[in-house]
Amino acid sequence: MFILPFPLIMTPTLLILLAHPDDETGCSGTMMTALAQGWRVILACATRGEEGEIADPKLATRENLWQVREAELRCACQILGIDEVVFLDYCDSGMDGSPSNDNPKSFMQAQPTIVHQQLVQLIRRTRPEAVITFEPYGIYGHPDHIAMSRFATTAFHLAGDSSFYPEGGSPWQARKLFYFVIPTPWFAKVRDQMKALGLDTSGFDSLAQFLRPSLDTQITHIIDVSTFVPQKMASLSCHQTQIGPDSGFYHLMKPEFLSLHGQEHYIQVYPNEFEPIFYTHP
Ligand SMILES: [Zn+2]
Repeated sequence: MFILPFPLIMTPTLLILLAHPDDETGCSGTMMTALAQGWRVILACATRGEEGEIADPKLATRENLWQVREAELRCACQILGIDEVVFLDYCDSGMDGSPSNDNPKSFMQAQPTIVHQQLVQLIRRTRPEAVITFEPYGIYGHPDHIAMSRFATTAFHLAGDSSFYPEGGSPWQARKLFYFVIPTPWFAKVRDQMKALGLDTSGFDSLAQFLRPSLDTQITHIIDVSTFVPQKMASLSCHQTQIGPDSGFYHLMKPEFLSLHGQEHYIQVYPNEFEPIFYTHP
């Protein structure tokens, strides 16, 4: 019997580089699309989101929120069918201007070389076809999102450079890098719907200062994920500590908002020539 020493057809891998449990909601439909097409999907999360909300004191304390949120992310990933979840073990930096920004263990205070080595090692081990991370302004200006966008973009290229961190695995140049974007018209539609339902939009309005309409015109890929909206919402519901009655997530899960979850948006960063995110795996 002839045994192939190595699989001739490699399963393509999508690697998602994010910062907190629940960030994956913005691209969970894309992850499900990849899985449905035979891809392997790996999610790396820089922190365990311990500066986040505690919607109900019965769910967590400040001391154990990191553990609870790790479990919430694992619950979401199980629903989505994600193959592997990796934590980079940094602390949540909190929103811009909060005292936790100064925590030396926070992701925004991390030594760039160390993070680059971690991400390069991850890329070289998992050998992704495509990498997705945040756009450079971090969706709504969160320092950890901005940091991950910067670190991931640099690591994407360094992973293919044999002179960088040679002890971190064999060089691997992923073919495609995408930034995930939430377009400003989407925020406007959510706000209009909240107004129509008589809901308070003040918390939502405070995000407006961080939105970057200039990104809207740079969007290269719109993925139709409408068939996966039920799983998107089911995975989001794992993040119970973040779904208090005043939270955006709480409203976004209402039936009136479901039609707004059917598309996910990306900017292709690399290469220059247009590429689809996926090809169908044979
Ligand atoms: Zn986040």
